[in-house]
Amino acid sequence: MTAVPPDKRLLLAPKAIRARACVALDAFWPRRRIARCEASGAAILEAILLENELTRVLFGAALGLCLLCVPVQGSSQDIEIFAIRYGSIADFPLRGLLPDAPEGEVIDVTLTVWLVRSGDRVILIDTGFFRPQWFGRFDIRDFVRPDVALSGMGVSPADVTDVVITHAHWDHMGGLELFPAATVWIQEAEFSYYTGTAWQSAGRSGGIDPADVAHLVSRNTSGSLRLIPGDGIEILPGITVFTGARHTFASQYVLVDGAAPFVIASDNAYLYKNIIEGRAGATFERDDRQANLEALRRMVELAGDAGRVIPGHDAEVFRRFPLVADGIVRIYPEHP
Ligand SMILES: [Zn+2]
Repeated sequence: MTAVPPDKRLLLAPKAIRARACVALDAFWPRRRIARCEASGAAILEAILLENELTRVLFGAALGLCLLCVPVQGSSQDIEIFAIRYGSIADFPLRGLLPDAPEGEVIDVTLTVWLVRSGDRVILIDTGFFRPQWFGRFDIRDFVRPDVALSGMGVSPADVTDVVITHAHWDHMGGLELFPAATVWIQEAEFSYYTGTAWQSAGRSGGIDPADVAHLVSRNTSGSLRLIPGDGIEILPGITVFTGARHTFASQYVLVDGAAPFVIASDNAYLYKNIIEGRAGATFERDDRQANLEALRRMVELAGDAGRVIPGHDAEVFRRFPLVADGIVRIYPEHP
């Protein structure tokens, strides 16, 4: 077995330790830009190799002290993830979720938003809906308006600092105006398509509520909207978004990068069956199902374990994780 040089050991250390080492170095060595070391560890190694022996000693002392101290604000240790059920749809055709499912088979699906705390940010992933016309189109049960559902966690709408919209469908973006104080994050291509081409004669606007789109535009003109230019972008501390398949024109999924990373798939994986059995869901274009399968594989890779990919509409989520309030489960950390 080959011995690992001391500096390499830091790179091979668990991510949480590398993150704290990075902060120690940052505090000790403020002139250098080393934020990127939190992701790769490479900058730490580079910095160590460039410095003299005295700095090595001082850095080692700083690292040692830091490993003993409490986690810093915004580190992976601060992250918490909850799933909040705001209703369910009874007797939903399974074929609408798994295109190869037997005809006539139905299931009850959950309607969910996800709450993430990262440092001082309170981040809502998707917003549910509340407009009355959708109750007439689906058999919706046990509905709790999403802002009221959040109160089960002691969180008021004004507390929500950021909203990440995975896609523009009614059951994900339809509650946006319930959170007027939040900064809104959406893929630029999703925003452009559903505020433009979708409503032209060759466009596709199924499942998109014009009132939601009008509100989305108002968030842009009021300055509280952020357009995300594509895949693999860290938009907030510990929150990175990815694209890769088209559930809608440009849907996204979210990596919440704590010490144990989780992926909030939203409708890029409706059910655990999609993830575990590698089965494509419904996509914007039929030809895009292969891309959905690749996205499923990538989500598992990012999370490091299929069990840490959270599907968008599976009631099993609310049995698999511990209940902390009515309709609310704690996904991470397992023990607060
Ligand atoms: Zn959905």
